[in-house]
Amino acid sequence: MIRYTLNCGQGHTFEEWFSNSADYDTKAEAKELACPDCGDRAVAKAIMAPNVASSSSKAAAPAAAPPCGMAGGCAGGACGFANSF
Ligand SMILES: [Zn+2]
Repeated sequence: MIRYTLNCGQGHTFEEWFSNSADYDTKAEAKELACPDCGDRAVAKAIMAPNVASSSSKAAAPAAAPPCGMAGGCAGGACGFANSF
């Protein structure tokens, strides 16, 4: 048995058990899959997102920004921060 997370066209998410991936394909093609919430038959497999819980631990640190926050930094003298030196 294999469990798939499915999304309907209305944005509902639900889970369904299948004998195997071919079983899913057969039922999907036959439009036998329907959303239990709204009955929508525009059902598709949801994108699997493993390790979601750990995704925040490796957030990339932003590149060192100039203290004034200007895109070009203070070097151009375009910001008041540079003029205060
Ligand atoms: Zn639905």
